[in-house]
Amino acid sequence: MEDKTKKVSTSSKGLLQSEELYEYLLETSVYPREPKPLKELRAVTATHPRAMMGTSPDSGQLMAMLLTLVNAKRTIEIGVFTGYSLLLTALTIPDDGKITAIDLNWDTYEIGLPIIKKAGVEHKINFIQSEALPVLDKLLETSDSEGSFDFAFVDADKINYLNYHERLLKLLRVGGIVVYDNTLWGGTVAMPEESVPEWMKPGQHYTIELNKSLAADPRIQISHAPLGDGITICKRLY
Ligand code: SAM
Ligand code: CA
Repeated sequence: MEDKTKKVSTSSKGLLQSEELYEYLLETSVYPREPKPLKELRAVTATHPRAMMGTSPDSGQLMAMLLTLVNAKRTIEIGVFTGYSLLLTALTIPDDGKITAIDLNWDTYEIGLPIIKKAGVEHKINFIQSEALPVLDKLLETSDSEGSFDFAFVDADKINYLNYHERLLKLLRVGGIVVYDNTLWGGTVAMPEESVPEWMKPGQHYTIELNKSLAADPRIQISHAPLGDGITICKRLY
């Protein structure tokens, strides 16, 4: 009998057909244009035992494109780790732009911080060490926060994605974008539960629920792109 767990994507190729194809994409279109500080950040993150958590450079390239398309100036990031997506955002938004970056963990942020400082973009970052949900709730209590953000990137605890979604839709302006990461969860969203490795099951469940909800949400336009581990781009419509 076929072992379906073998289909779970845990390797660097993401969800693509082969390592060679992923290498081709990176070498041809991504690495030649990746800013030097981001290469440095990837290098210092590579030795971390959880290096796999860093945003893939191809997803990062799409994120930079989206940030420029919406002229993002004020952004929110939930899930910083060592700061790849954060530094990418900081390098992309204008000099007077501001990122509210939230993570439970200061230690991992500190790994990338010297590179962020060297790149001259630290002044654009307001790093908040906290659970993300109370920070979003606090922001919503501030009268001028609603509808004031252009972009959000969510790459943290899957169990809370729908809670983040409700708050982010209020914080984003109409036309603003929220990007959710890992929305194909290693391909497990399309697998029977019994063939999914135990550690991936909670994520499989939350991701399936998230994907159903986003698809049914009339407040947003969506694009579910099979890039990296799957990303879902949502634009606030009203
Ligand atoms: N975007 C990052 C990058 O490009 O390297 C990767 C983020 S990593 C996949 C997930 C991060 O979410 C971890 O650093 C973790 O500490 C953080 N996190 C998990 N649960 C959280 C929560 N409830 N509130 C805030 N941060 C959380
Ligand atoms: Ca991720």
